[in-house]
Formats: sequence, structure tokens, C-alpha cells
Amino acid sequence: MHLESEIQYLQGVGPKRAEALREIGIDSVWDLLNYFPRRYIDRRHTARIKDLRVGESATIVGTVENFELVMNRKRYGSRFRLILADDTGHVNLVWFQGARYYERAFEVGEVLAVYGKLDLYGRELQITHPEFDRIETDEREGFLNTGSIISLYPSSEALRKKWLDSRGFRKLIKPALELAGQIPETLSDDVIARHSLMSIKDTYRQIHFPSDEASLEKARERIKFEELFYLQLLLAFRKRRIASTEQGIAFEKVANKTRELISKLPFELTDGQKKALKEIREDMHAPRCMNRLLQGDVGSGKTIVALLAMMIAVENDFQAAFMAPTEILAEQHYFVLQEYLWGLNINVALVKGGQKKSEREKILSDILNHQVDIVVGTHAIFQEHVEFSKLGLVVIDEQHRFGVMQRAEIRRKAVIKDIYPDMLVMTATPIPRTLAMAIYGDLDISVINELPSGRRPIRTAARTEEARNKVYEFIRAEAGKGRQCYLVYPLIDESEKMDLKAAKDGYTILSEKIFKDLRVGLLHGKMKSAEKQEVMSRFKNHQLDILVSTTVIEVGVNVPNSTIMLIEHAERFGLTQLHQLRGRVGRGADQSYCILMIGDQASEESQKRTRIMEETTDGFKIAEEDLKIRGPGEFFGTKQSGVPELKMAHLIHDHALLQTARDTAFEIIDKDPQLRAAGHQVMKKKFLAEYSDKLHLSGIG
Ligand code: ADP
Ligand code: MG
Repeated sequence: MHLESEIQYLQGVGPKRAEALREIGIDSVWDLLNYFPRRYIDRRHTARIKDLRVGESATIVGTVENFELVMNRKRYGSRFRLILADDTGHVNLVWFQGARYYERAFEVGEVLAVYGKLDLYGRELQITHPEFDRIETDEREGFLNTGSIISLYPSSEALRKKWLDSRGFRKLIKPALELAGQIPETLSDDVIARHSLMSIKDTYRQIHFPSDEASLEKARERIKFEELFYLQLLLAFRKRRIASTEQGIAFEKVANKTRELISKLPFELTDGQKKALKEIREDMHAPRCMNRLLQGDVGSGKTIVALLAMMIAVENDFQAAFMAPTEILAEQHYFVLQEYLWGLNINVALVKGGQKKSEREKILSDILNHQVDIVVGTHAIFQEHVEFSKLGLVVIDEQHRFGVMQRAEIRRKAVIKDIYPDMLVMTATPIPRTLAMAIYGDLDISVINELPSGRRPIRTAARTEEARNKVYEFIRAEAGKGRQCYLVYPLIDESEKMDLKAAKDGYTILSEKIFKDLRVGLLHGKMKSAEKQEVMSRFKNHQLDILVSTTVIEVGVNVPNSTIMLIEHAERFGLTQLHQLRGRVGRGADQSYCILMIGDQASEESQKRTRIMEETTDGFKIAEEDLKIRGPGEFFGTKQSGVPELKMAHLIHDHALLQTARDTAFEIIDKDPQLRAAGHQVMKKKFLAEYSDKLHLSGIG
């Protein structure tokens, strides 16, 4: 037998069980060893029978005194009863299932270790369906079910039918572990020594059959470390490759127009913006490729920072591309940039769907002829063969909509004649640092950690149906003061049609009845681009008081005069999404409000979430809470998340370990980028074997 042997041939498996095991992805002995316990239960402490307490569980050791198959009145069917005794007393062990099997399983005088919960029947002490080991026969191999820390494995109805409950798994894993000596080490000696990690062989032994808590903890730590380490190694590779083999651009000039733009701003940049800008400038100045994440809460002012970065490119005679996740946002950015750039003689073009052919051709040829300095659009910029003359910087706004793969793809498409443009990725999703490291670990990170001063914190309140009229009165009063309001409807049933219907119905009632005297507009994703733009600009110019919309306005929209964000069925939104929506208000000097309308049937859980929204406006705190509730996969939306699947490590709870793993991985790649050193061979092997499918991202191969 060896680790790669088919599972069928392992002692105690056979064809039927092998089939059940293959169903859950266990083909080989090695796969079985990687089937980790779900949790553990401590059965080390043995008790004397006279010290047992009814209702408690304990391990006892005793001798079989007697047993019988009890054929009972019909109601109960037969049961098997065994009397186990030690020096201090006796208990009945009872099995209702497998009674006939057990009748032949024991011998009087045999010594058993038994674990289970003690009940009282009449005056008799009883343990029903106990776990047990036979002292005489099992002693040499160690106990499987009692007397130690026992591992519990994930199982299912189908598995249990094949006797593959926790007990069944323990029985199979025992002989499989005899091959533990063959498990090749996957971390180099120096890494193991430096972090005093457990060897891989011992790790597998301890994970399945822990000898004590401390060893189990060491084993778990080793597995977590390894998961995080290889993840970081991948990122380190990727970063290294970008730094070393990709020819970047050194933008050396900081010229007059940039200075003029800064001096003309109606506000002073915050310290956070200045710091981020400085980091970006240093990156762009250097001949290597910039790969930077600009992270800042909603409203922290990322757009102007991105624009100043683009100015650096433009003033060095390069073009810049500014990518937004939706057309509405692209259009908004386009107008915002034009406003900022007024009078500076810098040409901005918008690439979008629905443009006239002649118009579009003109734009495309202007871009190719470098008549255009800054191109704004959606990912269509790179999908539809927009050709640049000299692309120097790509800015991607609201990154979480794109994901890691798309980022790699954009990079690849943006390269012109072996020159890689700099990349600036912006996200308003306040990703906790640990998670940012895990996902964007190949990017440098700049954080704008403050909002422009003079903003008042948004007041948030949850309201139920009862309060609806009051809420409407409040909106009317604010509108009377010249403020504007967003009214957002959620996605229902994941179906866009319903989503639309809710918003449209709401719009009809609000515009024709409730707010007949106010100007109400409707915005949703199914409208034509021109229509959307028309509605947005009417809202922006205060020709509308209330904008009813679907979640299309979730990201980026900026209308400082709007002070109310009313969210219908707030319980259906994730926390981060609520935070993004809320970020649409509170952008001006006036007090802003966020009202979360909660359906009457909202669960306890969702009420808890809205309470978090009422309590804090700190995006990072909200994201952490959201992660705790939903887990990383859902947090980012499953498919494009790029969040790695981890078996044991937890990106939030194990952040200290993640940091250590990261430092170690980056240090190793720094010194030995190709893992050529003899000591690093084990890691190279594992890396190529398990991560080869992801290597095209990192460019190793
Ligand atoms: P976000 O980071 O959410 O993309 P924006 O870039 O849209 O934020 O900026 C939000 C608002 O704050 C805009 O109206 C912008 O003009 C304004 N703003 C940006 N920087 C500052 C600043 N330093 N002081 C005051 N207002 C600012
Ligand atoms: Mg923005």
C-alpha cells in the first residue's frame, strides 16, 4: 500500500464503501487522510461508576458481567442489554439498533471502555448506544472511540448507510495513517524550524488522532499556515514577475497643468488623499510597473486622486483609461472629469454602447491618433478593441465588481509593444486588511483613511410599515427645504423582472399619489443609456426632488444635495451593500439621513444587521461584521470573488498567522524568485503540483 493506492484496497473498505467514498471525492488513501474531522470531543477522563451523574457523559472502564437480547412488547421491538460493572457499581448498556449483531459481539468477562450519556430508567443506570472500545483486543492499536480526544467526521445519511459515521471513518483512517511515514514534507526545513511548525507526518497523525490539546493545536496551526503560505507564495510570485519582467514606464514630469488643477480645486485635499497621491506618484515615477489598490470608504474622495494620477500620465505624453463597472458610472465620471478639467485643454472621451456609428468611429480614431488623453468607459474599453496610441495608466474603479481574473485579463490586453501601463485599482468596499492581503496580496495598498472634513455623520434609523406615513412626511419636509431624496428598491427573488416591477410600482404610487406635488423620477438598469443619463442629469440639476431607483445607483453616484436615502426592504440587502447605498448621501454640508424600511416579516438576524447600520458609519467595521455573517465567498459575490477556498484557515480569525505566512512567502520569493535553492525544492514541487492551474495568472510555468 502507498498513499496513492486506490481507496478500495485499504483495509476495511471494499467495493461498496469505496463507491460511497468516491462520491465525496475520496479516491485514494491520501484523499482519505485529507478528510479532516469536523470537530473533536474529549473522552480522556474516565470515571468510576459510583461517581457518575445522571445526564452527564463520561468514559468508564468495566467488565462485561452479563448480556441478553430482550424481545420486548411489540411497541419497542427487540433490544440488546449488557451489564457492565467496575469495583464500584454497574450500568446497563442498551442498543436498540443492531441488537442481533451485538448479541454475538461480546463475551462475558471482556473489558470495555465505554463512552456515553448516563440516564436513569426506573432505578437502573443506563447508557443508550454507547461508544466503546475493547480493552483487550484494541489496546495494542490504541483506542478509536474512547479514552482520548476523539475526532468527529462529517457524514451523511448515505455514508451512514455504509457504516461511514464518525466511528466508521476512525476505523478506516487508523490503517491509512500507518502510511503517514510516506507523506512527503511540503515546507522547507528552515520554514519549519523558524516558525516551529509540526512536521507534516505528525500533523496528519495529530489531526486524526490527537494525543492532547496542545498537539492538536500545533497540527491545526501547521495546516492553516500551509494553506495561507501557498496562497501568499502565489501572490508573491505574481508580484515579483510583474516587477521584474514587465517593462514599466517612468513618468518623470510633474508639470504645470497638474499644479493648476490642484490649485483650482474648491477644497483642500485631505491628508489621506495627499498620502495616497504621494505613494502613487512615487510608483509612477519609478520605471517599474505600478500595481496599486486605492482603498477608501464611500465619499472619501478617490475620484480626484485618480484624476491626478491620470494627469501625471497625460503630462508625460501618455494616455489614460478610466474604467467603471457600469455605464451610468462611466458617464458620471466622464462629466465629473470634464468639470474638473475645464479650461486645461485635456481631451476626455466616453466610450459607451448605443453611440452612433459615425460618432463612435470618430472617437475611436481620435483615441488611436492620440487626440484623446483620457478614455472613460466600462470594461468594453478592452473588450471592443479600442486601440490606444500610447496607453500609460489604467484606472479601474470599484474593483470588487471585476475580480482578480478580470484584472489579470485587463493587464494582458492593455499591454502595447511590451510596455505595460501602470494600474490603479480603486475600491470603496472597505475590505478588512487581512482579506485585502489575501486577495490583493500582489498589489500595493494605499488607504484614504479619512473623510473630507465638514461632513456630518449620516443619521441612520430603521423603520417599520407603521411609520411609513411619518417617513413620507419627513421626506416632504426635507424636499421643502430644497433637499433631494433617493428611494431604492431591492432585488427580489434574484429576478430582475420583479426588481423592476417593485421599483416601477413604487414609482407610480409615489409620483401619482403620495408625492403628487413633488418631482419624482425613475431610474433602473433596463433603461436605455441615454434615458438613464437624462434622468441622472435631471436629478443632478435638481429638476427632480425624488429619484426612485433599483440598486443601479449603488456605486459611485455623487449628488451632494441629496440628503435622504430611503431603502425599501432593507433586510434583503447585505451590510456592505447598505453601506454603499448610504454613501450616496452625506456628501454635502447638510445633515443627511438614511432610513431603512424593514418588512414586518424581517427575521431576528436581519434586524440585528440593521442595528449595526444604525450604530456605525465606519465602513471597515461594517465590512468585518458582514464578513462574520456571510463569510468571504458571499461577501464578494461567489463567482468573481477570487477569494480562495480555505479548508481550515479563516481569513479573519487567523489574521496573525496570515501575516506571518505572508511575510515568509514574500521573503522567500524575494531571495529566491524561482525557488531554485536546494532547500526550496519541496515547496516548488508542491507549488507546481497544486497551483499550476492558477499559474497562468502569476506567469510561472
Ligand atoms: P468616492 O471615494 O466615494 O469615489 P468621490 O471621489 O465621489 O468619493 O468624492 C465624494 C465627494 O467629495 C465629491 O463631491 C468630491 O468633490 C468631494 N471631495 C473630494 N475630496 C474632497 C476634499 N478633500 N474636501 C472636500 N470635498 C472633497
Ligand atoms: Mg467613486
